Amino acid sequence: MPSSINRPRGTIDVLPGEVEKWQYVEESFRRICREYGYAEIRTPVFEYTELFDRGVGETTDIIEKEMYTFLDRSERSLSLRPEGTAPIARAYVEDKLFSGPQPVKVYYQGPMFRYDRPQAGRYRQFHQLGIEVFGAFSPAIDAEVIAMSMDFCRRFGLKLDLHINSVGCGVCRPVMREKLYAGLRTRLEDLCEDCRLRLERNPLRILDCKEKRCRGMAEEAAAGLNFLCPECGDHFEKVRNYLDVLDVKYIVDHCLVRGLDYYTRTAFEIMAPGIGAQRSVGGGGRYDGLVEMFGGPPTPGIGYAMGLERLLLVMQEQGLPVPCSGRLDVYIVTAEAELEGKALRLLQELRGNGMHADKDYAGRSMKAQLKQAGKSGAPFVVILGSDELRRGKVALKDMLSGSQTEVPLADLVATVTGEIDTHFTKVRRFKG
Ligand code: ATP
Ligand code: MG
Repeated sequence: MPSSINRPRGTIDVLPGEVEKWQYVEESFRRICREYGYAEIRTPVFEYTELFDRGVGETTDIIEKEMYTFLDRSERSLSLRPEGTAPIARAYVEDKLFSGPQPVKVYYQGPMFRYDRPQAGRYRQFHQLGIEVFGAFSPAIDAEVIAMSMDFCRRFGLKLDLHINSVGCGVCRPVMREKLYAGLRTRLEDLCEDCRLRLERNPLRILDCKEKRCRGMAEEAAAGLNFLCPECGDHFEKVRNYLDVLDVKYIVDHCLVRGLDYYTRTAFEIMAPGIGAQRSVGGGGRYDGLVEMFGGPPTPGIGYAMGLERLLLVMQEQGLPVPCSGRLDVYIVTAEAELEGKALRLLQELRGNGMHADKDYAGRSMKAQLKQAGKSGAPFVVILGSDELRRGKVALKDMLSGSQTEVPLADLVATVTGEIDTHFTKVRRFKG
């Protein structure tokens, strides 16, 4: 290329060596979702912009300054999805999932796009793992959704704090808004520019400001206020009781509001201990009005989303091993060039038996092939030599111990399978 073309700011290439960690987290997520009875859903990466304007809320950071919005060739305004809940609620309505058995429990994983300020743990294309449940009012489901998100993190050995709150409903939330408005109106000049606007449009959002000073003032203004109506108060108490039953530890944080407008009642956030703007690993909550707003029947909803990059970052910070087995199980080395065909056949046979197997294709010397084998990270190397083959044998080298044995060719697949199993039981014995 004459002049260099780089990837867009705020994006990353996930390279071999790193991508195994992503796959490990994604596969773990898939597994736990199936255990909890969730089915996968995939929606488009872009949607009509109105979906997010309405579904996320026009006074949110996402809509005000973070969306990738463009006109397509027919001049329709489209946006790359900044989050997963609004598209899935749209699908619930559009694909009439409400007419089947309820609740509908779905999970998703994939890229999201936000024009954020790039830094560690903050990207413009990032990846979320999330779930949504439609059609369940019971506080038991709130507790289970929260418990599942913590269960998922705990399986990696992560130590995280869970913050929970109830943001009330359409009946009681206005009381909170009023209180904040009244408390902050007189201190307008101390608020950041964004929050001065928020005070008029959506004072609750001040509790979620990135400026500590604004948050502090809002917390002061809201202090001691018990605004929840009896129904919301009762729901929240039951959620807490079920979390106690499930042995999930939490911190009640009355100032926790979520960035999106559609949340009702339960809100929660999972935070890495410590300081810094990228502490939030995931969060979620209830959104009982969203489906109806999209033209569906009145349907309660609850869900959460976690950031894959943040999970990996915190795992690294907490020194947790990501048990990725190497790319290869076996590497085949040939002592003589004429054995190439034999090696190819043996490779196919190993692969046909579920083994990850490879060889050199550059016509390297045996010494150089052994070097390649070492670099490949394969725990076992099979060496084909014509003398041994004449006796119906091949050499099998255990790369970890360095020991080498002769194995009858006819037993090779069975032997290697057995060795690989023991090898990976040893390697995979990690905490969590
Ligand atoms: P933050 O306050 O860190 O901007 P948020 O409230 O905007 O987070 P949510 O909308 O709740 O985030 O998204 C859920 C999760 O997605 C976050 O907890 C985080 O792990 C992840 N996430 C959000 N934005 C980004 C981003 N720009 N880059 C990487 N991960 C992100
Ligand atoms: Mg954000």
